[in-house]
Amino acid sequence: MQVEQKKEESEKPVEKKLKFDIIIIGAGPAGYTAGIYSARAKRDTLIISGILPGGQLMNTTEVENYPGFEKGIFGPELMMTMKKQTERMGATIVDDEVVNVDFTHKPFKVLTPSEEYESEAVIICTGATPKKLSIPGEQEFSGKGVSYCATCDGPFFRNLELAVSGGGDSAMEESTFLTKFASNVHLIHRRDKLRASKVMQERAFNNPKIKFHFNSSIVDIKGDQKVQEVTLLDNKTNEKQKLQVGGVFVAIGHDPNTKIFQNQVELDENGYIVQKKNTMTSVDGVFSAGDAHDHRYRQAVTAAGFGCMAAIDADRYLTEKSTE
Ligand code: NAP
Repeated sequence: MQVEQKKEESEKPVEKKLKFDIIIIGAGPAGYTAGIYSARAKRDTLIISGILPGGQLMNTTEVENYPGFEKGIFGPELMMTMKKQTERMGATIVDDEVVNVDFTHKPFKVLTPSEEYESEAVIICTGATPKKLSIPGEQEFSGKGVSYCATCDGPFFRNLELAVSGGGDSAMEESTFLTKFASNVHLIHRRDKLRASKVMQERAFNNPKIKFHFNSSIVDIKGDQKVQEVTLLDNKTNEKQKLQVGGVFVAIGHDPNTKIFQNQVELDENGYIVQKKNTMTSVDGVFSAGDAHDHRYRQAVTAAGFGCMAAIDADRYLTEKSTE
């Protein structure tokens, strides 16, 4: 009888914890750093890491500009290390996707396909996704010559001919930056007018290493182990030409991953989260960190810095609330 009773007790499902002090949505450098700071502040912390835990660095090879790694570190390794550090601090991490949120009442609700989590504060760290050209070879050579971040990858392309696609500020800035390493940069833009600001345009026009190809689109990327060639289509004449390049930088903008927050927090006209006071969004108790709000710096180290700031702000917010 006693044995049966014990068996019944052990078969009782452990109740899943659904209430936390702080929920962090997203697990790139911003999310993990927010998790480290939040857990170290003794806040009961949950990170819901999304379908691609680790964020954009999971698609990066070597990271040379994250401080602390004298010889550089591979992106996925850096993110796994951050994850382990976050767990060691006591944060709970679940690999699940947030499909909906309700920030209209406290506690806030954060929903995955199977669970409804609650918390007193939320930090949004969902990042942004670089827009793709969606042409043959782009996916195949991603990380093997196709890059979406000149600051991250430029130094790996010394003395090579490079192609940059785009006509906005990013394309101008990245082309100018890449001339430090490349033998030449071919700026390929689909129209005859640049979208970039005048000052950025002039800087690029005055750089003798940048060659402009207007009314042109890259229509495919070819190579062996690495990128070797792109095909350019003249959008006016329909003529095609081959360009021998050792790398392709796609700089046609980013999409912030903020769709699920559309009617919950204020977003700007491009979908980026608007911060109202320090890292707080338009909703008291909801904070943001990283590329979901930052379209200016977009670096792993700045995202981590914002994650730290948001966790400090969230902790102070909870302290103030508890003494009200
Ligand atoms: P953006 O201003 O949206 O420009 C994107 C460019 O890519 C446009 O020229 C666009 O062409 C082109 N493009 C879009 N889709 C394309 C496709 N499928 N194929 C080929 N070309 C395509 O994006 P951004 O340059 O990343 O800038 C985003 C924001 O950040 C802007 O507000 C910008 O001012 C800001 N920013 C500021 C700085 C700075 O101040 N230092 C640096 C970087 C970015 P069309 O022109 O034909 O549409």
